[in-house]
Amino acid sequence: MNIAFIGLGNMGGGMAANLVKAGHRVRAFDLSVDALARAVEAGCERCDNIGSAVSNVEAVVTMLPNGAIMRDVYEGDVFSAAPAGCLLLDCSTIDVATARTVAADAVAKGYKMVDAPVSGGIAAAAAGTLTFMVGGSDADFALAQPILAAMGKAVIHAGAAGNGQAAKICNNMLLGASMIATCETFAMAQKLGLDPQTFYDISSVSSGQCWSMTSYCPLPDIGPKSPADNDYQGGFATALMLKDLKLAVEAAQTVGAAVPMGHAAEALYQMHANAGEGARDFSSIIRMLG
Ligand code: NAD
Repeated sequence: MNIAFIGLGNMGGGMAANLVKAGHRVRAFDLSVDALARAVEAGCERCDNIGSAVSNVEAVVTMLPNGAIMRDVYEGDVFSAAPAGCLLLDCSTIDVATARTVAADAVAKGYKMVDAPVSGGIAAAAAGTLTFMVGGSDADFALAQPILAAMGKAVIHAGAAGNGQAAKICNNMLLGASMIATCETFAMAQKLGLDPQTFYDISSVSSGQCWSMTSYCPLPDIGPKSPADNDYQGGFATALMLKDLKLAVEAAQTVGAAVPMGHAAEALYQMHANAGEGARDFSSIIRMLG
C-alpha cells in the first residue's frame, strides 16, 4: 500500500519504520531535517512537503505533537492534496473536540478518517507493540485495522470519531491518579515504620493492588524492573503525563464530569514539572511526595 507518514519524531519514526518492514511504500515528511533523515535511513521515501507526501497515496498516518498542529496539517495541506477517498489515520494524542471536528470535516470532503492514539512509549513504537484505541465508523475501522496492526500488538475499536482520544485520556487520567496514590502510600508506609518491600508483599496481594504498584513500582528494587530502577530515566515523561491530564480535565469540563482526582493529579504533575522534572518518568513524582 502507498502510505504517507507525517510526524517522524520519537514515536512516528519507529512507527513509520514498522510500516516499511510490513512491506508498505512510505512517503515521509517532517519539519525536522534530522527526523526525516532517520526515516529515510529506515526505508521511507523523502518528501519535501506534506502536499507531495500525500498526493498519490491510499492512506495518510500522522503522529504530531498536539491538536492545533494536527488541525493545521489536515485543514491546511492534507485536505487540499490527498486523493479523494483516502483513509486518514491520526495517531497523535489530542483533544476530543478537535479530533471530532477534523474527522467531520474529512468525511464532508469525501475522506475516511479514524483517530487512533496509542498506549506505549518510544520502545513500543520501535518494537511495533503499541496499543491503538480507535474512533471512527465500523467501515473505516475495518480499513484502518491492518495498517495499525503492522505497528502494534492490539487495535481496539472504541466507537465513533473521537472515542479513541476519549479512551486514551480517561485511561491516562486513571493512571496519573493511581500513580500519585501509590507514591503517597509508599511514602506514608515508610514513615509509619513499614519496610517498603514488606508493604509491597502485603498490598500487592490485597485490595490496594494496582498496575502502578505491581507493574511499575515507583520505588527502586521493588517489583518488576521499572524506570525507578534507572533513576527515573526513560519510561513515560512527566511532561507527557501532564499534557494528557490537561486534555482530560478540559474534556471533563466540556461534558460536566466531576473529576476531582483528575484535577488534583494535574496540579501535582504541574508542580513536579515546574520543579524541573518534566523529562523524568512520571513515577518520579514520589520524590516530591516522599
Ligand atoms: P515528537 O516531538 O518527538 O515528534 C513530533 C514530530 O512532529 C516532530 O518530529 C516534529 O518535527 C513533527 N512536526 C511538528 N509539526 C509538524 C508539521 N507541521 N509538519 C510535519 N511535521 C511536524 O513527539 P512524540 O514523542 O513522537 O509524540 C507524538 C505524539 O504521540 C504526541 O501527540 C504524544 O502525546 C503522543 N504520544 C507520545 C508518547 C511518548 O512516549 N513519546 C506515548 C504515547 C503517545
